[in-house]
This record gives sequence, C-alpha cells and structure tokens, in this order.
Amino acid sequence: MAVDGRMFLNGERVWARAGATFDAVDPATAQVFSNIAQGDKADVDAAVASAQSAMGGWAVLPPVRRVRVLNRLASLLREHSRGFAELESLDVGKPLRQAEDDVNAAAGYFEFFAGVADKVFGSTIPLGKGFVDFTLREPLGVSAQIVPWNYPLRLASRGIAPALACGNAVVAKPAAEAGLSVVRLAQLAVEAGLPPGVFNVVTGGRETGAALASHPGINHITFTGSVPTGIAIMKAAADNVVPVTLELGGKSPNIVFADADLERAAASAATTLMQNSAQTCTAPTRLLVEASAHDHFVELLAQRIRGIRLGRGLDNPDMGPVVSERQMQRVLGYIASGSRDGATAVTGGRRADGAGLARGYFIEPTLLDRVAPGTALEQEEIFGPVLTVTTFASVEEAIALANGTPYGLVTGVWTRDLSRALNVATAVKSGQVRINSYSVEGSIGLPFGGYKRSGFGREQGVEALANYTQIKNVMINFG
Ligand code: NAD
Repeated sequence: MAVDGRMFLNGERVWARAGATFDAVDPATAQVFSNIAQGDKADVDAAVASAQSAMGGWAVLPPVRRVRVLNRLASLLREHSRGFAELESLDVGKPLRQAEDDVNAAAGYFEFFAGVADKVFGSTIPLGKGFVDFTLREPLGVSAQIVPWNYPLRLASRGIAPALACGNAVVAKPAAEAGLSVVRLAQLAVEAGLPPGVFNVVTGGRETGAALASHPGINHITFTGSVPTGIAIMKAAADNVVPVTLELGGKSPNIVFADADLERAAASAATTLMQNSAQTCTAPTRLLVEASAHDHFVELLAQRIRGIRLGRGLDNPDMGPVVSERQMQRVLGYIASGSRDGATAVTGGRRADGAGLARGYFIEPTLLDRVAPGTALEQEEIFGPVLTVTTFASVEEAIALANGTPYGLVTGVWTRDLSRALNVATAVKSGQVRINSYSVEGSIGLPFGGYKRSGFGREQGVEALANYTQIKNVMINFG
C-alpha cells in the first residue's frame, strides 16, 4: 500500500520545513512501509498560525453551515471506509473488521456533533425589572488535540468533532507509532467543505507534542494517553493558562459475581482481550471473580481464549500484534513480573512465534490467575493482551479491590441481582459503570471520562460541549 507521509497544514499536504522524517513500521512484520514527516517547532508555529487566521471565519458562520460540513465529512468517511480501515489496520496492527468499526465510530462522532452544532444554547438569568441577562457560549479558539496510537482515527474524531462543532480551529498531533489516518481525516474535512487552516495536523513524536502543548497561541488541549504525559501536558498548559481535557487510561475492574450469566461474562471478557490486543483505555483487564465461581469462570474464559487466532490485521484474524517493539517488551515485562509475584499463566504468557508471526510484535493472549492485589500487574496499565484474575469473598471486598488502584475509568459488573449491582455502581470511584454488558450501540451519546488519575473533563454526549466553549455573560439595563 503506497502511503503518503506528509502532514497537513493550511489545507495542503506538506513535508516538514526542515525535511526530517521518521519510519512508519508495520507491527505485524516489523517492516518499514512509509516515511513520515517529522514536524518540529517551526511546523507547529506554522500550524498554529494557520489555525489562528482561519478560526475567525469558521467561528462566525451560521451554525447550520457547520452542521452541513460535519455531516458531509461523516458521509465521506463512510464512503472511504475501506481505505481508512486498511490504513488503520496496517498502522496499528488491529484486525480489519475492528478498524472498520473505528471508521464507523469516527463517522458517528461527526454525525452526533453535527446534530448539536446548532444547539449550543446559552441561558437567560432573571435580575428583576429593567434588566435582562443572558449567556453566550463562544468557541475557545485553537484546540490542540494530542492523540494516542491505539485508536488514532476514533479518538481524534472524539475530540475534533465537538471542537469544530463549537466553532474552534484545531491543530492535531497524532502519535509517531500510528496516526496516518488523522492526516487523511483532515484532508477529507477540506473536501467536505471545511475552510483550509481550520484543521491542521503536525506529525512527529514526543518533542512535536511538547512544542504544541506549550505553544502560546493555543487556547485549549485535549489529550488521551499515559498519566506521566498527561501531567507534563498539564504543566505546559499551566504556563499559558489554558484548559485541558485529559483522558489518561485505566486499570478497569470487571467484577463477576457467582450468580452472573458466566457464559456471557466470559464471552465479553474474551472479546475485550481481542479488541485491539487490549490496547484500549477502557479495557476491563482486571477480573475480580467471586471465589465460589472462580474455577468455572476461569475454565469458560480459558476455553474462549484458546480459540483466538492471531495474525496480521489486514488478514482479519481475531487478534493482531501490539503496536511496537517497545510496547511488546513492556507487556512481556509485566507478564514476567507476574510470575515473580506468584501469578500463574492459564493461557499464553509468551511472545507468539507461530507461522507468519515470528517477525511481528505478537503476544499470546494471556490469562494470569491468582494475581495478588497491590502487585504491579494488578495496579498498572499493561496495555496488551493480558487479563488478570483476583478473587473476592464479599461485595465489600469486591468494591475495595475495584477502588484499590490510582485509576477510575470504567467498572464492569456482572450479576443477576440488580440491587447489588446498583450498590456497587454507587460505591465505585469510576466515571463509567457497565452492568451486564461492556458495550452498547449508541455509546457516543454517553458522557465519558475518568475519576482519579484517569483524568477529567467529559467527552462524548452533549457534556463534551463544555470542553470546547467558554461562557460570556451579557447584562443589559434597559430601564
Ligand atoms: P504517551 O502518553 O506518552 O503518548 C500519547 C501521545 O502524547 C502521543 O501522541 C505522543 O507523541 C504525545 N506526547 C508524548 N510526550 C508528550 C509531551 N511531553 N507533550 C506533549 N505530547 C506528548 O503514551 P506512550 O508512551 O505511547 O505509551 C505508554 C503507555 O501509555 C502505554 O503503555 C499505555 O499504558 C498508555 N497509553 C494509554 C492510552 C489511552 O488510551 N489511555 C493511549 C496510549 C498509551
């Protein structure tokens, strides 16, 4: 597949001003498939300048025109779904059908926020006779979008769609590991009628991201990724007094009570393991299983995991590789730490080296049992195809374990006792609770975000508009 490695500034594909590039690597084969522009501070300056000069025109358009552009972009994404999915599958390593789901979700974000772009309402506030007071919700200006490698298109769209809907301009910086689809998205947005300069993409790594996060010309940052990087970005934003929206991953517990439909709970757990090789911030990788159901549940889950077929994403296996050599070593390091801490591997536990896999970054789908609370394996985000099992004996213990990490993104609960489920839902410190199902169609309308070190700010749903607008209050004395 021929892949254009240029970035996207002011409506055009361009190389970095200094001419630097880096390699795009196919994680299934470790082969370089393209050279990508390595943007530096000068490129970030140019991107921010182009966003600044374009944002005024976009912000003052009648909102209904923004509705049309965003809807057209959603249609174009669906029209070009196959091409986007192939690029994403090659870049990240995920199975093609999962990449197709991502393209649909991306289109869904643009449709959802097209639907609210002309409904960014303010309020009127009573002040008594002779006065009228109302609020205007105005765009912030230039929103910097720093995107991770696990779902480049989907997560970029999650932030960029509401940013554009509210009349902001955008400078996006995808991850060096994978993010080519974000550049294509910006190009497609111009084809959909977005004025050039409103949505720019600078490609590059950590330094490029840091140059963007600390740029005095930006007015807001959305970041999804690791906690240490989120902290660095928040510090950079503090120097310029700009707001940040942070989604910093999780260590989501999946609580399985003995009375649950264990078959369904096991099927769901196996699916979340295969989904993007569990390189998913919401992945419920920490199974907390009621002791009396432990043996049966682990056997049901292990049977499913043993059936998972690995392969190159473009060949549509059940599960692909992890994104990079570095990520593979990191995940294998966690698995090794588990065996030192007394965990046992029920399935997997090694780098996969079967036919056609040996050169890529494949890890066997791994189920680790008897994982002790407080160990690195149980506390830290692994971001690879590893599920851990820890048992509990009471509801109170399940809640204490669920709350026992620095993260608070999602909690899964499986039980037929809805009263118990709701007690758990109110006791856990997490931004989302999912009872008897981990996914649902239409989730774009649900506010999403973290408690504790999983971050703050809510994306998705109409709640996301708060991230991309500032409120101006207008008071009139007409008496
Ligand atoms: P990262 O958080 O460092 O990178 C995410 C994005 O931030 C990339 O675009 C990167 O270039 C950029 N970035 C890095 N340093 C920056 C800085 N100082 N200023 C501005 N931008 C910067 O993640 P990583 O190093 O690729 O992965 C490490 C771990 O992070 C993973 O193993 C995983 O646990 C976690 N992670 C979580 C998510 C998520 O969705 N929550 C996504 C990716 C990674």
